[in-house]
Amino acid sequence: MSLISTNLQAVRQQIVHAAQQADRSFTEIQLLAVSKNFGADAVFEAVKAGQTAFGENYVQEAVDKIAAVNRLIQQKSPGVTLDWHFIGPIQSNKTRLIAEHFSWVHSVERLKIAERLSAQRPSHLPPLNICLEINISEKETKSGIHISQTAELAQQVNALPNLRLRGLMAIPEPTGSVELQRSSYRQIRLLQAQLNHQGFDLDTLSMGMSADLDAAILEGSTIVRVGTAIFGKRNYDQ
Ligand SMILES: *Cc1c(COP(=O)(O)O)cnc(C)c1O
Repeated sequence: MSLISTNLQAVRQQIVHAAQQADRSFTEIQLLAVSKNFGADAVFEAVKAGQTAFGENYVQEAVDKIAAVNRLIQQKSPGVTLDWHFIGPIQSNKTRLIAEHFSWVHSVERLKIAERLSAQRPSHLPPLNICLEINISEKETKSGIHISQTAELAQQVNALPNLRLRGLMAIPEPTGSVELQRSSYRQIRLLQAQLNHQGFDLDTLSMGMSADLDAAILEGSTIVRVGTAIFGKRNYDQ
């Protein structure tokens, strides 16, 4: 077995265990393998181990990789289809490529970006699934919208024809304290409950990374975004 497939098994076990602790079914929790900074070969190793959903942060890197992975699949495992999720910061000149190549976007924080994604979504594809990124750190420099502005943006995104608003995403400040991890994610879960009470239909909480996925699952995460624990440490010098 390759290291990536061993790592994937371990992460799946961790999800099953955390779901048990949370008294939830592990089938409610989707594992998104975050493959940024890793190449098509690494993605294909994960595909061979049964992984079908991948998260990417950089548009051009992702578009090239998606094409390369599709070639590998055509040659070696025809019929497999993958779901690509965009999870990084979005520049407005990149929205067309995102709308064309991804099925989910987790990092929407501005109406203008949402409008472009909707307008540029190709008509032969289903609506683009959207999560709003919430800033729970209270630091202005962090990305994401403030909790108090979420309902308004949710309303506006809901009205766009080629988007489907699915839920909320958050990246809290890193901390080793499971209690602090949980209290950040709890805010997102409560925000989801509040919005659904107001009539929204949000079924997704994109919460949890390699270092805090247990806490996220305990607070109701439905998508965990895991990079390092699957692919190893990223090398940003390359
Ligand atoms: C890189 C990244 C991840 C994965 O983080 P790891 O700590 O490597 O698991 C998850 N979510 C987002 C938004 C990321 O940018």
